[in-house]
Amino acid sequence: MDGANGIRAILIDIDDTLLDFDKCAAFSIRRAEDATGVRLPPDAFSVFKRINRQLWDRLQAGEYDLAYLRTIRWNTMFAAMGVTADGLDFEYHFERALEMSAEPVTGATELLQALAGRFPVYAASNAPSGQQEERLRLAGMDRFFADVFVSGDLGFSKPDPRFFEAVLAMLPYPPETLLMIGDSVSADVAGAKPFGIRTLLFDPHSASKGDEADATVRALCEIPAVLGLRD
Ligand SMILES: [Mg+2]
Repeated sequence: MDGANGIRAILIDIDDTLLDFDKCAAFSIRRAEDATGVRLPPDAFSVFKRINRQLWDRLQAGEYDLAYLRTIRWNTMFAAMGVTADGLDFEYHFERALEMSAEPVTGATELLQALAGRFPVYAASNAPSGQQEERLRLAGMDRFFADVFVSGDLGFSKPDPRFFEAVLAMLPYPPETLLMIGDSVSADVAGAKPFGIRTLLFDPHSASKGDEADATVRALCEIPAVLGLRD
């Protein structure tokens, strides 16, 4: 990638790019257990991760929307865990806790500081309406954002082209002057690329082939150098 040449604004994903979703989810599961009295088996978190990933993959493939995912998520989990309980009630408490969970990814605050000193920064996230603003505030990150775009408000989830169309319609920048930063090849990179938006993949586990995005980094602290920013 040719530094920050021509880039005028940043779009950035939230979960697993700025906030550590695993830590936030583990916290929220414990809170939901406390609130509902449901006791989950010892391997509950690995089951949660596997099934949540499968449910989000199907959502991103356009099979259903976020409201539907929320209605089936914990009943699907409970069926896989052999737990008999009310999944909708557990989902309610899980989401209330998730709204209050804000565990930063290493280097996220420093990255936002570096980016926001140079560009307007916009969050672009698949999440229910309202939740992400509060989590960014709790993480002390809200002050870095010019605006927060979430699928729950826009009606479409990344990588649906309509998510990016809606974001582009609200911004005064041509797509080729935007850089999308995120951890998902399928949602962030594949969603933004067809519009000519430049892409930077955060791939901490080296799970990608390395050539999907215009640039790929293992750690957030590498990004200012990739963009040629000095502090
Ligand atoms: Mg993400």
